[in-house]
Amino acid sequence: MQEHGGGSALDEELGFDPVALRARYRAERDKRLRPDALDQFVRLRDQLAGESADPYVEPGFTREPLTDEVDIVMVGGGFSGLLLGAHLRKVGVTDGLRFVERGGDFGGTWYWNRYPGAACDTASTIYLPMLEELGSLPSRRYAPAPEIFEHCRRIASTFDLYRDVCFQTEVTDLRWDEDAARWIVSTNRGDAMRARFVIVSPGPMDRPKLAGIPGVESFKGHSFHTSRWDYDYTGGTADGGLDRLGDRTVGIIGTGATAVQCIPHLAAAAGQLYVFQRTPSAVDARDNAELDPSWVAQLQPGWQQRLIDNFTTLTSGGPVDEDLSQDGWTAVARNLRQLMARRTERGEPIDDLAWLVQLADFQTMEGIRSRVDDVIADPATAEALKPWYDRFCKRPCFHDDYLPAFNRPNVTLVDTGGRGVERITETGVVVAGREYPIDCLVHSTGFEVGTPFAKRLGYGVTGRGGDTLLDRWAGGAQTHHGILAHGFPNLFLMSHVQFGFSLNFTHFIAEQAKHIAYIVGRAHTEGIRVVEPTPAAQDAWVAEVERAARDQRAFQSECTPSYFNAEGDLTRLNARNSPYGGSPTAFFAMLADWRADATMPGLRLTT
Ligand code: NDP
Repeated sequence: MQEHGGGSALDEELGFDPVALRARYRAERDKRLRPDALDQFVRLRDQLAGESADPYVEPGFTREPLTDEVDIVMVGGGFSGLLLGAHLRKVGVTDGLRFVERGGDFGGTWYWNRYPGAACDTASTIYLPMLEELGSLPSRRYAPAPEIFEHCRRIASTFDLYRDVCFQTEVTDLRWDEDAARWIVSTNRGDAMRARFVIVSPGPMDRPKLAGIPGVESFKGHSFHTSRWDYDYTGGTADGGLDRLGDRTVGIIGTGATAVQCIPHLAAAAGQLYVFQRTPSAVDARDNAELDPSWVAQLQPGWQQRLIDNFTTLTSGGPVDEDLSQDGWTAVARNLRQLMARRTERGEPIDDLAWLVQLADFQTMEGIRSRVDDVIADPATAEALKPWYDRFCKRPCFHDDYLPAFNRPNVTLVDTGGRGVERITETGVVVAGREYPIDCLVHSTGFEVGTPFAKRLGYGVTGRGGDTLLDRWAGGAQTHHGILAHGFPNLFLMSHVQFGFSLNFTHFIAEQAKHIAYIVGRAHTEGIRVVEPTPAAQDAWVAEVERAARDQRAFQSECTPSYFNAEGDLTRLNARNSPYGGSPTAFFAMLADWRADATMPGLRLTT
């Protein structure tokens, strides 16, 4: 950030001192930087073994191992798998598609995350894919999780994806058989199925993690991670009503996007709730409502893609005059446009764009901080709940009941001053030397996001010549457009790594699905046996990914630690393991041009 702006009189009228704000942001960031950065977390499995199993299926499911051959195995049944399946059907792949999925149904994130209050923060009209195509509309502007899960199932039924599915099955190994030009897919059910193409989508939020707090394994009360919510213990449903907590003292560690949604329900139900906070989330108003019938009545064909494109352009800093979203996600862009308009009216220059963006961000965050003062009765609690960082340094949050929960007499915010929980004992949680005794500990500590893709997969991938993905990518991922990797023929990747990124996750997933379906569809109809990127095309893409990442470093170094910036250790922020940092809209357009060039440039195709 520039330390001083263009000196416009208008800047002074904004009512804050940008230099003082930046100094405060840096001081708050520095409190939270820690040398162990990404290593501060531990995998859920290691620490709460037994509590990470799937609570949504009947135990005891068995089936015969599969050793047959199919054309395509899709590993993962979340939105990536669903959209890939839908697009494959559209390009004429009617048979030979098999899903392998760990859960007991399609849905991915929305299968696993059923905690009370779970919902999507992104407007459902852009988040729920294929609404127009399926002739359906969400019930509300922001849909609750069960409705999103239902939408996933609707996509699966519409495109006949339940036909060949191995649920409750985890891949344990992928191995390329060069002679047969087939992948051998091994699973924890003893399968060794063969497939011409394999598509893997581990999901960005697939692996729950715990804070590596000393003693985390020693707690003897009840505990679970938010993505494995234990309704047998709490009572209630995803709508709330946790009626077994009335005489319980509950602690929750974490105040990120998940906690913001479930804390109001815990607060309403628990005898006593302690919220252990390290960094406050920036929580703006939600203003959820049913879809306005007059808005629905004026929709024209193509409406959903227009909304999706507009959102992605606005939230990635692209040039667009219209704001079709009109919600909290686009507040910074709105403030920016107003600042520019006011300066223009006064005949002042608007060429210091980076500074204007920073002012618009400060303005948005000042609004969020003053909202805390408006809502919270106790001044000390209000101070502790104020976020001091740029809006997109952490996942933006929106909720109307989160802040008011802290006004309840049974809710205590235990702010750790940025240091985090000190220790967990057999009976409680210790902060600043004081133990808070609790019956139930909820870990709202998120998921592995920044760990290398090849490691996060959780199974080995062995390509041509016995090379493993883990070894090949030891220095970071190497892909062509985030989708194909040299040395791993016919293997397609669906993840955010090296692919264009939108804050509306289903947007980039849909683009990825469309692109992969195009390549696989072509291979299908033209009898192409093997698809693989050339080393030169792959190197060129990796170089472009690294170039784009350099532009983002300054912003990331100013940010408070989070999974967005490798918990503040930029030396661990390997651009190769990150999304492509260039304009997502330009990236998606580039992919469309690539498809329009029927020669599939950069790929070696063997018939
Ligand atoms: P996050 O990783 O965002 O939050 C983890 C929380 O745990 C943070 O508050 C973190 O504090 C805290 N924490 C970690 N270590 C400690 C410690 N030692 N002591 C105390 N607190 C600690 O996970 P979430 O599950 O909340 O969200 C993950 C992602 O899931 C979101 O970013 C979002 O992308 C997605 N999501 C999306 C939703 C949607 O609407 N679409 C809804 C919910 C989640 P600190 O901030 O200091 O690191």
